[in-house]
Amino acid sequence: MLRVTPQRQAILALINRSNVHWDAEELARELVQSGQAVGIATVYRGLSALEGAGLIASVQLGDRKRYERIDKSHHDHLVCTECGSLEEFVQPEIERLQAQVAEEKGFRMLNHQLLLFGICYACDNHDSNQDLDKGKKI
Ligand SMILES: [Zn+2]
Ligand SMILES: [Zn+2]
Repeated sequence: MLRVTPQRQAILALINRSNVHWDAEELARELVQSGQAVGIATVYRGLSALEGAGLIASVQLGDRKRYERIDKSHHDHLVCTECGSLEEFVQPEIERLQAQVAEEKGFRMLNHQLLLFGICYACDNHDSNQDLDKGKKI
């Protein structure tokens, strides 16, 4: 089903050994830096093939996707609209309420993604001088 090319193996290996939510450009750049020149179109095709085969997970952000390891436990994301960083969170009460909504609607929920958009702590603090050392890098 999945054609496992060396490029796809390299993409999968990179995702699997990091906690990063990768976008295709970042992945292509990283592969070039590690001596494996892979064209951006190949990266895009590789990512959707790997996702289709259930080997990586994706987060849909508007018309773009970011990809992460599949073996993490379920979590949702805070998305910074300034720097594009993704922070992960799990809130049991939110999880429970979502399941309850689905049940009340007679809706068989297969999965969900919850994205909170806003400004991350580091971006929110980085131009106030007195708080410089409080800014935490993600
Ligand atoms: Zn940010
Ligand atoms: Zn994540």
